[in-house]
Amino acid sequence: MSRKTNQLALLDASGQVPGCKEPLFGLNSERLSALMEEIGEPSWRGNQISEAMYNQYIKEISEITTLSKSLRKKLTTAGWQVGTPAISNAFKSQDGTERYLIEFPGSGPRAETAEAVWMPEGDGGEAGDTANDDPTDWRRATICVSSQVGCAVNCQFCLTAKLGLQRNLTAGEIAGQVVAVLDRHQVRVGRDRVNLVFMGMGEPFLNYDNFMAAVRLLVREAGMSPRRMTVSTSGIVPGIEKFAQEAPDVRPHLAISLNAPNDRIRAEVMPINRKWPIATVIDAVRSVPLRPRERITFEYVLLGGVTDRPEHAREVARLVRRTGLPSKVNLIAWNPGPGITYTTPPSESVAEFQNILVGEGIPAFLRQPRGRDIFAACGQLKRTIDTDTGSGRFG
Ligand code: SAH
Ligand code: SF4
Repeated sequence: MSRKTNQLALLDASGQVPGCKEPLFGLNSERLSALMEEIGEPSWRGNQISEAMYNQYIKEISEITTLSKSLRKKLTTAGWQVGTPAISNAFKSQDGTERYLIEFPGSGPRAETAEAVWMPEGDGGEAGDTANDDPTDWRRATICVSSQVGCAVNCQFCLTAKLGLQRNLTAGEIAGQVVAVLDRHQVRVGRDRVNLVFMGMGEPFLNYDNFMAAVRLLVREAGMSPRRMTVSTSGIVPGIEKFAQEAPDVRPHLAISLNAPNDRIRAEVMPINRKWPIATVIDAVRSVPLRPRERITFEYVLLGGVTDRPEHAREVARLVRRTGLPSKVNLIAWNPGPGITYTTPPSESVAEFQNILVGEGIPAFLRQPRGRDIFAACGQLKRTIDTDTGSGRFG
């Protein structure tokens, strides 16, 4: 077989019919450049494709005008597609938050949607922001993305847990949610202040390699800063240990879902605590080298009567202080969901809890619920279509 035929054969190596190839979206510049070389093109064509997908948010090969017409045709004929995930459903909250169901081209007839949330002036993980009355006039925003469809971790207070784990998302699908949302709001990375939180559906550290590959795409191809990204984990120790090894130029901030003042209550509300109790999680967190002024975030969901008592606040303060880690606590009043029997604590207990922490010298912020009316708030992501009842068509 001649070298040329061999190269073309490579394009069909998957044995798929033309038009059903893996999307180009999700490949980094190096892979795209290698692909170009394989089909006899100069490698810098790969950078042009990267630029088109990750900076210009182009969705069709035919629209990548930096490529010659013949190359566009060659790629299309060989069955390649850009394959940027697309927003298939959007729900708008009264507070400006938008929740999206995002579809992935090429993932088959069963629409495997994931969810992403757009919070203008957003407070998706970085507490302290204020709400803005005009959601189109945003100066900063937070995008919350999913790392899996569903979740296997089974936290008792979380609606996503009810789905179980449907599947891992690929790197392209995780980064693609971000690009789809950036495109929708015409965000220009570098000009606009956009924070990213990996706090949607799923446990990022149980899909570690794809999650980190997505971060690298977003940093190296789309130009986003890891300092504007926060990943939240329920405390998957092997994941935290791997995360500690990542280079600082691609390492987002780390948030730990603490959610309880001690192992007894935590194991009740987060069964994963039986596998990795609090001290084990904290030990792993200690191995993460922090940047100057960087802090670990402890997220703490307040469940009425279960984790919101003043004595719990004092215990949390002691626990956090004993870690010796530069840290802060983000308090989240429980967001309700159908079929879950916890209660949302009254705002007075939330305020008291916060005051106790602050009084004990622990920086504590209250995360404002965003988009509760459209099931977009923390722990409410479940691909809900009917926002009146919260029940949902699924899959
Ligand atoms: N799986 C990861 C990230 C997604 S959940 C994790 O658990 O950390 C993001 C945050 O939402 C977590 O801190 C989680 O504890 C919180 N959360 C889950 N369900 C919630 C609910 N119903 N109300 C408020 N916060 C919730
Ligand atoms: Fe999964 Fe996070 Fe929900 Fe727990 S809180 S079930 S880890 S998504």
